[in-house]
Amino acid sequence: MHVLISGASISGPVLAYWLTRRGFDVTVVERAPALRKTGGHAVDLFRPAMEISEKMGVLPRIEELATGTDRLTMYREGVPQPTHVDYHKLTGSMSDRHVEIMRDDLSEAYYDAGRDDVEYIFGDSITAISADAEVTFEHAAPRRFDVVIGADGLHSNVRRLVFGEDAGRTSFLGGYLAVQSVPKSFAPVGEMVVRVSPGRLAGIYTAQPLDDARVLFMFKSKEELQYHYRDVPRQKELLRNTFAGRDATVDSWLDELDHTPTFYFDSITQLQLDTWSSGRVTLVGDAGYCPGPAVGGSTSIAVLGAYILAGELAQAKGDYARAFAAYEAEMDDPVRRSRAMARGIAKGLIPNSRAGVWALIHAAQLISVLPAGLTKTVARMNSKTVRLYDTMRYKEYSLN
Ligand SMILES: Cc1cc2nc3c(=O)[nH]c(=O)nc-3n(C[C@H](O)[C@H](O)[C@H](O)COP(=O)(O)OP(=O)(O)OC[C@H]3O[C@@H](n4cnc5c(N)ncnc54)[C@H](O)[C@@H]3O)c2cc1C
Repeated sequence: MHVLISGASISGPVLAYWLTRRGFDVTVVERAPALRKTGGHAVDLFRPAMEISEKMGVLPRIEELATGTDRLTMYREGVPQPTHVDYHKLTGSMSDRHVEIMRDDLSEAYYDAGRDDVEYIFGDSITAISADAEVTFEHAAPRRFDVVIGADGLHSNVRRLVFGEDAGRTSFLGGYLAVQSVPKSFAPVGEMVVRVSPGRLAGIYTAQPLDDARVLFMFKSKEELQYHYRDVPRQKELLRNTFAGRDATVDSWLDELDHTPTFYFDSITQLQLDTWSSGRVTLVGDAGYCPGPAVGGSTSIAVLGAYILAGELAQAKGDYARAFAAYEAEMDDPVRRSRAMARGIAKGLIPNSRAGVWALIHAAQLISVLPAGLTKTVARMNSKTVRLYDTMRYKEYSLN
């Protein structure tokens, strides 16, 4: 059976790996001219994704490439004295098995794990998919596949082609997210420095394997802002309008905006489709069920979804309709729970008021000073939210 996957970031290479291990022929088409080194951002891998990475044999490499952030230093607007937080205890309160890694490094680790058995086509994109999976491309000659899978992110091309331009309800979670690159010397190694004010959060970090430092901006907005998702100058303008002139340190980061080699800007949006499959096509990862970037553990859901989809396709022995139905059923609960978690985190992460800012910083500090055992006990009471991924159960698939 020949499977075409669109997208070579996280869910695409993980899916390709597991499909080839189960005897499928796999082609991956990626729009970027090479494996993306877009600058990107740090992402979290929680328990299920750690376990799946271990089965793939890539966990030691992932752990080696971890960002190595040990300390979180938080500044409240107008208060010169920072609050220091033990980062490991903070993440340890969320999960017993967690690693933070740059998305590009993670993508490369998954790509390397399967690349020898997968046909990768870079610098191309699907232009049409017929009902019997005859596929046309921007550059390559048309080809027929048995199944086509969209692993091409929140703004998925496959989703648009198969389900229509406005497929799915996108639920705006009330915030925006931006990432830029600044010189590495701007950030201390091993520490994330965050500056919080009502409705706004800006943080800087670097990591051992990086040549630069990354600034992450998050801000609240009642209304959805008017811009096109590819209009970078307008996005930079919106970012400046929100952050400039309030904090000299943040201004010094913004001064680099015109030189940043990498820039990301998007709304914190949750995608809600009733089904991810149509005929011979299905979606995986952010393309199908992004709970909201940076707030719902979407990298872990993307890895889990890829593992489950490959397992179900193998179990159904090519009966894609049966496999897709089983895949959606298996993912229903994790996806619903990650959406609920994302909505909760989006609400609390960027506080609206000065009191909220104070509470956020002190909650983080409290977690960091409590003994680890007690922190976990407190967090376990919240197992439906912050410890969601540790409590997630998923189906195992044998390779026979
Ligand atoms: C700023 C930011 C911070 C984040 N922080 C976190 C975090 O802390 N924790 C966490 O768990 N997650 C986080 N995420 C989310 C995480 O990056 C995604 O959930 C994860 O990468 C999803 O993987 P994916 O493979 O499904 O999609 P993506 O990583 O979005 O990859 C899609 C791929 O498809 C390719 N593509 C797009 N269009 C086409 C096309 N037409 N043809 C072919 N290929 C195409 C893209 O180039 C890309 O390689 C964050 C996201 C952002 C943006």
